[in-house]
Order: sequence, then C-alpha cells, then structure tokens
Amino acid sequence: MEGYGNVSKGCTLCSRAEKIPVYTTFICNKKEKCIYCPVAIGLFGSDQVMVGSKRIHNSQELIKSLENAKGASITGGEPLAVPERTLDIIAKIKEVYGKDFHLHMYTNGLAFDETIATKFYKAGLDEIKLHTFDLEKFKLARKFDWDVSASLVCLPEQKEFLLAFIKQLEGLGVNSVTLSEAEVSKLNSQNLRNAPYETEGKSIKGSKQCCLDIIDYARKNNWDISINSCIIEEVMETAKQRVYAIEI
Ligand code: SF4
Repeated sequence: MEGYGNVSKGCTLCSRAEKIPVYTTFICNKKEKCIYCPVAIGLFGSDQVMVGSKRIHNSQELIKSLENAKGASITGGEPLAVPERTLDIIAKIKEVYGKDFHLHMYTNGLAFDETIATKFYKAGLDEIKLHTFDLEKFKLARKFDWDVSASLVCLPEQKEFLLAFIKQLEGLGVNSVTLSEAEVSKLNSQNLRNAPYETEGKSIKGSKQCCLDIIDYARKNNWDISINSCIIEEVMETAKQRVYAIEI
C-alpha cells in the first residue's frame, strides 16, 4: 500500500487481511448507482447480511465468522439504509470481542445526520469512512471522538478536483483519505459500458497513477492529512488471505 502520513488503523488491519468485511445489506439509498460500484449485480439491492462471501443468518454465525479477525469493515450496499440492524451488529461485535476489536464503517453519507452519528458513536464505532464530496458530512463527523476518513475513488479526469477537495478536508481536520483505484470487473462493467473510459487490466486506465500522483503531491507539499492508496492487485491478494482466514 502506498501511503503518506499515518495510515488509518482500519486500512492497516485490512491490508494485513486482519479485517473482514461485514455487509449489513446490499440495498443502497443513492438515486443513481455509482458507475464504479463494486457490488455484484446479483447482490445489489438485496437485503441480506454477509461476512466475506458467507451469508449470515443469525448473530451466532456472525460472531463465529469473525473469530480469526482483529477487526471488521462495516459496509454494504449502504449500511445506513438499515441503521438499526447495522447498529445491532456493531453493538453485538463489540459486546463479544471487546472495544479493541476495530470497526470502521463505510457510508455514502446520505442518511448520516446528528442523530445517527450519536447512535453509532455510542455503539463504539471506531472510524467512519465517508464516501461523499459533501463537506458538511465531514464537519458533522468531526464533532465526535472517532477517526474520520474519506473514501474516494480515483477517476483520472478528477485529479485536480480531488486535490482541491482533499485540501479542504485537511482544513477540517479529517484524519485520513483512502484513494481507491477504480475497478472494472464483471460486477460493474455494465455500468461502465457507456462511460468514456479506457480500461487497463482490471481498472480504469490512469486511475492507479492518479492515486499515486495525489499521494506524491501531498508528500512533496507536507500536507497535514494522511493519504493511502487501495490498489486492486493488493486488494485481491488480501481477499484471498481473508477467505482462508474465514475458513480455518
Ligand atoms: S454508494 Fe456504494 S453501494 Fe451505493 S452505488 Fe455507490 S458504490 Fe455502490
């Protein structure tokens, strides 16, 4: 993982395959699906819980599937499309595995408000990763004593915009940014079919370089915000290790 500054605990554990994704639903509340949405077409919109690639039917299965992990990433779909279920899952995991079991949650921020933030903070969420360009959501998240990070996908033509946006996040005291290479796979190729992108391997051409250029720029200019990349090859490698982690 390329990075500048202190990489968030969530990303550090994830890159070592010590975190497992917990999908609390595959419903998403966005009106228009993101073109790079990584959720499998067959799963998108379905309301079920999975840990890694395993369907979960009850809290015993949830807890058992996490027994080899040091943390979990709460994700979806959009976890805040089913806030009470997601809260219950977070509370259950913390009750069984304790406060040191690290939990970060991805959200597109649409349903993230003061009430929701307070509930999730009290449930013990350690880090909130906002996948949005709405600065007000970051301001709100910063009112609570947890790590606040941005989860942004690098579309190459957005490089200048992303640099300016990250500079604003730095000004708000946001802890870190994860820049993801935009993946092209059978899961989202339908979405990308009409978009003006060339592909290169499993990604949009220029996306990985865009991640690396932004990190390099931040490093050269001593920005006071940590930035790390999430590159597809590395993600696939850790996913393989994680499958093993779930099966043993
Ligand atoms: S917000 Fe997340 S789940 Fe919803 S469409 Fe975008 S990438 Fe997919």
